[in-house]
Amino acid sequence: METKIVLMDEQSINEKILADAGDIIRSGGLVAFPTETVYGLGGDALNEKSSERIYRAKGRPSDNPLIVHICRREDMKAIVKEVPETAWKLAEVFWPGPLTMILHKSEKIPYTTTGGLDTVAVRMPRHKVALAFIEAAGGYIAAPSANTSGKPSPTLAKYVEEDMSGRIEMLIDGGEVGIGLESTIVDLTEEIPMILRPGYITKAMLEEVLGEVKVDRTILSDTTDKAPKAPGMKYRHYAPKGNLTIIAGTQEDVVKEINRRAERMREGGEKVGIIGTDATISLYIGDSIKSAGKREDEESIARALYRILREFDDEGVTAIYSEAFDDTAKSGGIGQAIMNRLLKAAGHHIEHIW
Ligand code: AMP
Ligand code: MG
Repeated sequence: METKIVLMDEQSINEKILADAGDIIRSGGLVAFPTETVYGLGGDALNEKSSERIYRAKGRPSDNPLIVHICRREDMKAIVKEVPETAWKLAEVFWPGPLTMILHKSEKIPYTTTGGLDTVAVRMPRHKVALAFIEAAGGYIAAPSANTSGKPSPTLAKYVEEDMSGRIEMLIDGGEVGIGLESTIVDLTEEIPMILRPGYITKAMLEEVLGEVKVDRTILSDTTDKAPKAPGMKYRHYAPKGNLTIIAGTQEDVVKEINRRAERMREGGEKVGIIGTDATISLYIGDSIKSAGKREDEESIARALYRILREFDDEGVTAIYSEAFDDTAKSGGIGQAIMNRLLKAAGHHIEHIW
């Protein structure tokens, strides 16, 4: 199969392309598209054959559920058994936007889309291309991130092409995404809402609308010995090819420790990549040194992280050291989401030096 690559960003919505993309989805095909979080790999959420094709294209285990993307808040009614008041409130405040809600599914949604679960994940993205595409394609698009299972999610179309070329009918290139980390996932099927995956919408933001919100305890710790609530949480994710280690501590200590390890690894013939920040990259010695951005600007770090991991892959980096980022809730920031992805990419290999 040849993958047709088309250009369409938020300033150049193209009706002809949308109609073609809609036809592909309606006939059971797959279209990758930009959202404000990461690129999605879309199929018809109501067609079990489409969901099966998504799992195959990604090489993803079929018990790892997909998120259903909609383009109107009220469309969640059709795919959810009963929409609780909390869901309407969150939709009002955060949709369109990077928030996914877990709700009890209706019969309209096949089990292949939900990985066999009785619940469904729903999100209404904010990206104009995503919204127009979902509408043109019938309104219900099942879409995981458009990467090969286990790899970092794509923040640029070229990484979708790398992973999905020949496996999907169309790729809509909308340029670089805005946020760079996947949506926040909140489970509304329990008495107290629970964050299953941290993201741009933080716990504090959700609590302003809902009152008490819990955070799944597996989010910042190794999940191997506990049964995670979201099936996807048990899989290794976002991983670069090189072996990634996170070093936490004071800036001075971290720089020294990373340089010490980098030197040793390079002597042993490894190609070493280092993830620092604007304030520290000039202090490192390695084969490929990259800044994730400014610590004061967590959004810059979120946007850069997956791209950097992919660039290390392209450069053949075999050992990676990264500074740790602030995962406390202070600044109401997305630091927790950044550390959640970085820890998963590192297989939870973090060392604290104090
Ligand atoms: P992705 O779109 O690749 O970021 O993956 C979607 C993720 O959403 C899955 O890996 C799950 O962690 C989560 N998810 C989707 N549906 C459900 C559900 N019904 N219950 C819990 N988590 C879900
Ligand atoms: Mg993913």
